[in-house]
Amino acid sequence: MPLQGFGEFRGVVHAHTGLSHDSTGTDGQILEAAHLAKLDFLVTTDHYTPRIFTEGLNGVRDYILIVRGVELPLGCVRGEGVDRRCGSVLAIGLQGTLEPEKYARKEDLIAAIRAQGALAIIAHARGVPDPRYFDLADGMEIYDMADTIRERLVEIPRFLLAAPFFKKGGYDTELFLPIAERSNWPLVQWDRLNQTRRFVGLAGNDAHQNLSLLGRQIDPYAVIFQCLNTHILVPLATKENRFLATPSPSEKLVTALRAGRCFTSFNLLADAAGFRYTAHAGEKGGLVAVMGDEASLDEGLLLVAQSPIPGAIVLLRDGVPIRRQVGRELRYRVDRTGVYRIEVSLWVVDRWRPWIFANPIYVKV
Ligand SMILES: [Zn+2]
Ligand SMILES: [Zn+2]
Repeated sequence: MPLQGFGEFRGVVHAHTGLSHDSTGTDGQILEAAHLAKLDFLVTTDHYTPRIFTEGLNGVRDYILIVRGVELPLGCVRGEGVDRRCGSVLAIGLQGTLEPEKYARKEDLIAAIRAQGALAIIAHARGVPDPRYFDLADGMEIYDMADTIRERLVEIPRFLLAAPFFKKGGYDTELFLPIAERSNWPLVQWDRLNQTRRFVGLAGNDAHQNLSLLGRQIDPYAVIFQCLNTHILVPLATKENRFLATPSPSEKLVTALRAGRCFTSFNLLADAAGFRYTAHAGEKGGLVAVMGDEASLDEGLLLVAQSPIPGAIVLLRDGVPIRRQVGRELRYRVDRTGVYRIEVSLWVVDRWRPWIFANPIYVKV
């Protein structure tokens, strides 16, 4: 379902490379994995070291756009064991070094990120100790894959039950089926924040390639990159369909994320490329908004969600589900203002599993 004037690109946000203290991934491994996962872009977010700006992957490499970012700690909430959670902020598209130790107040750190024109995205949202940090940021992770895997690892029996899925060679994406789940806490928080302004929701792969079980690497980059993707829509002036070839692709990526022109999908269930969520001026009217945009509440305003394969499409208004349609399309005549977003689930093996989370269309007077 091509959307006139836009190109769709697939990527991963929140990946650690060997520059992070807790990852040994090499640039070669990361680029190879990105190719296997058919990524157009990759946002790296290493734990801070100034070496990111001298040695880190950056720019177009082997037809993949790499935008460098940094993950900076925001503190922790109380709790023990798995309940001890720590939040952070992802600085996406930093132009240069930041000297995070200079900022005693995290508010100033977030302001410094934004002053560079970079995006400040709250990660590991449940671990953020001060709710004010959300108010200062551009958006948040509505899901973090490393958090989910860590929580699942605690349930060792489930992982052992899944052991037959361990394949020799090949990739173990089936083992990851249980990670396709709704993270309720951040979704509730996201819906709340969206009530006041555009607050971008992204999913973090949080790839480290640093977990092993029964002597096997269970989180190789190639698997983590394939399981979960961020798809962005980029306005393209010409028929050029590779935004990498256009001037300043990094800026276009950051602009698309900032605008919320993106959706998240657990592509281990199925490839979500081609999913569309748009607003139109009536049944025969033209396109007035794509996800992330505002639309005004005009007579006949129509929201349309289209899925590349049949699924359960749910429309939520201000966080509350108001319409569910099983199939390839949901259409809804809007009769009041609100923040309208879409989730799509797929029936896989034994139940509906969450698949796509799209950023909202904000309907105003
Ligand atoms: Zn880490
Ligand atoms: Zn991380």
